[in-house]
Amino acid sequence: MAEMESMSMREKDKMYVWHPYTQMSDWLRMDAPVIVRGEGFYLVDDKGDRYLDGVASMWCNVWGHSRREIVDAMIEQAKVLQHSTLFGLCNEPSITLAEMLIKMARGMGKVFYSDDGSTAMEVAIKMAMQYWHNRLGSSSNNNRRREIIALENGYHGDTVGAMSVGYIEHFFKPYQPLLFKVRKVPSPYLYRKGREMSDADYAQYCIDSLEYELKACEGKVAAVVMESGAQIAGGAIIYPDGYQSEVSRLCRRYDTLLVLDEVATGLGRLGSMVEYIAQDSIPDIVAFGKMLTAGYLPLAVTLASDEIFNAFLASYDERKHLFHGHTFTGNPIACACAIANLRLYEEEGLISKVRSSSALMAERLEEFRCYPVVGDVRHKGMLAAIELVKSNREPLIRLSDGKRINYAIMEEGLKRGLFLRPLGHIMLIVPPLAIGRDELNMLMDKALDVVDVISRLAC
Ligand code: PLP
Repeated sequence: MAEMESMSMREKDKMYVWHPYTQMSDWLRMDAPVIVRGEGFYLVDDKGDRYLDGVASMWCNVWGHSRREIVDAMIEQAKVLQHSTLFGLCNEPSITLAEMLIKMARGMGKVFYSDDGSTAMEVAIKMAMQYWHNRLGSSSNNNRRREIIALENGYHGDTVGAMSVGYIEHFFKPYQPLLFKVRKVPSPYLYRKGREMSDADYAQYCIDSLEYELKACEGKVAAVVMESGAQIAGGAIIYPDGYQSEVSRLCRRYDTLLVLDEVATGLGRLGSMVEYIAQDSIPDIVAFGKMLTAGYLPLAVTLASDEIFNAFLASYDERKHLFHGHTFTGNPIACACAIANLRLYEEEGLISKVRSSSALMAERLEEFRCYPVVGDVRHKGMLAAIELVKSNREPLIRLSDGKRINYAIMEEGLKRGLFLRPLGHIMLIVPPLAIGRDELNMLMDKALDVVDVISRLAC
């Protein structure tokens, strides 16, 4: 017992904590920092070392850490009401936040609260399925809308429904027996399309493939489900101009719902507050999460149009209500945190700041292109991806010293005071949205150093 008492936090972590998306046998050999504090755009560890937060703490941090106005809002709310359920009661922060979101998200009429992006997408899928069920009734079996179409390389979270629509083979294969069938159509991953086709032709091929499925299953498709603006976890695939609006147009033409996932791409990440508006597309249902609370507390929302919502109105015995809810649905502290965050977006003109930081990022990213290991650089807003490849464009998985590239990227980053979490051979740079020019330049310098080391170890 006395031995346990004398263990360091790093040792105790290895003893007790199971980390997400982590091969724990490797983890046990690593010396990962224990973060004890967040200071602006830095994370500070148990040894006092500081790391620039290069992935915005999994793509959610907006203002850096410990932003006073938001922390104060959480504390003030925590003093008066910590939690009260939305099952049968209302609370002020959830009402105020819903009003703000509906004013922001054109075409949406109602906000449904949940706790994280995965559950917000589960709610979205359930809403879409039940919308048709409520409209068509269970007896009209021939007309039942059962099919879902989703994009290859899409990712929507780790719960069973979210894994089904966002199936990524090398993540989810063991869970396949649990998953429902979804029709997949190609996504516009232009770098991997093969060199014989032009970008425009490939984007058109993706659209045509979707139209083919919609036509083949006409009257049977409940929804097309996709990330809005870009697919991040599937490889930081940024949609070409006009692609999403064309998908939206097809959904209208074939009378199918469009469910958009803005969990990672909305609220400024790609340079617009609401990405579907920037993409000139019209969803029926849309999910937001991550940056909603500035990355400080778990909260996500699923917004639905009035048309969707109205299909759930009926007499009680028809049982058309939405059978979904979580213990912490509409939690007042999380909602107060989101309100303070969204007010700061306005007060500080964050979106125009993001646009000028994005221009700086674009300029700095040019420096990465001169390395032969850099196959492709993709960038939009405050999201950048550097795809590291062999000379034949195959993903660079291992370096000459036998080390896996993802570990090498993380270790080399940490050595330089930068926290990065790559997607395998794809280095992601996803800074907190409000990062200043100096810190952004520093981040890009450090990331460039990491690519320099990787490039020397690649041969
Ligand atoms: N949807 C998208 C597009 C995501 O990128 C993620 C997470 O990265 C999710 C949903 C799931 O969100 P969460 O991890 O909060 O469950």
